[in-house]
Amino acid sequence: KGKAKKAAKTATKAVNTAAVIGAGIMGGGIAYQSALKGVPVVMKDIADKALELGMAEASGLLAKQVERKKLDVKSMAKVIASITPTLSNDALKNVDIVVEAVVENPKVKGAVLKEVESIIAQDAILTSNTSTISINALAANLTRPENFCGMHFFNPVHRMPLVEVIRGKDTSDETVAAVVAYAAKMGKSPIVVNDCPGFFVNRVLFPYFAGFSKLVLDGADFAQVDKVMEKQFGWPMGPAYLLDVVGLDTAFHCTDVMADGFPTRMAKLDHDPVSAMYKAERYGQKNGLGFYAYS
Ligand code: NAD
Repeated sequence: KGKAKKAAKTATKAVNTAAVIGAGIMGGGIAYQSALKGVPVVMKDIADKALELGMAEASGLLAKQVERKKLDVKSMAKVIASITPTLSNDALKNVDIVVEAVVENPKVKGAVLKEVESIIAQDAILTSNTSTISINALAANLTRPENFCGMHFFNPVHRMPLVEVIRGKDTSDETVAAVVAYAAKMGKSPIVVNDCPGFFVNRVLFPYFAGFSKLVLDGADFAQVDKVMEKQFGWPMGPAYLLDVVGLDTAFHCTDVMADGFPTRMAKLDHDPVSAMYKAERYGQKNGLGFYAYS
């Protein structure tokens, strides 16, 4: 009896329903992956257009699965039906977990997280897909920081195996365990990391981007840098193309957070290509123009 009681106490909270806030590159991808792996998901945004794009992206990815005979048409329809696009907060009341994936801005994220926390169930888990912003800083205005942690997916969500689960100073073990289990259920390979700006991957990646920016400022041709990194060095893509995939707006905000967090290693540059692209509203693949042009 004692053993059963202990087991019940430490059982991992099951995640059977989820929500994503923000239906952009990441929110749309997370919603698709969750639904594909059998966890129905509410996809909330403030823009109708974003919801339409999110649903179109999910349908496109599912159609490819059908083409490759990994899914039949009936299952495809079932997966699509398990994604609920919405502009309203009502559907958040009944979900087990929320993944916030709005713009990489501490103030906006802080306000969104606070609002969502006031709507979801007391024992629901709240996570942020932030790329760089400290989880402790985001938790500062929450009333249940024990239920909050980072859940950082990578782009494109359906292809990248890694998920960083970021433990804040108040995050409970139960929350970490439930988020790790949800990531595994989504077919991902989670790692638990401590909190700091950029966590693990972006502590490595953003200094690389900063090195690329300085090289371009010193006169290098970005396309040539890409070519060498890809064709000769052998990486799947070079830094300029990768920045176009990430989104130059997101990269700009992330660079700011990293420069504040690590001022000696990530000094802010005045006219670097990432800020120049951002200021010219060349956001990369998401709006058709970044370092390269996309049709
Ligand atoms: P995005 O610009 O593609 O999408 C952001 C979405 O959030 C938009 O659809 C916007 O309408 C919506 N939004 C803004 N404010 C909102 C609000 N108050 N409520 C609901 N929706 C709102 O951005 P993205 O690339 O998907 O990035 C989202 C988050 O994921 C950021 O924190 C980013 O750092 C992180 N991230 C991005 C990448 C990447 O490669 N792009 C990778 C990992 C993590």
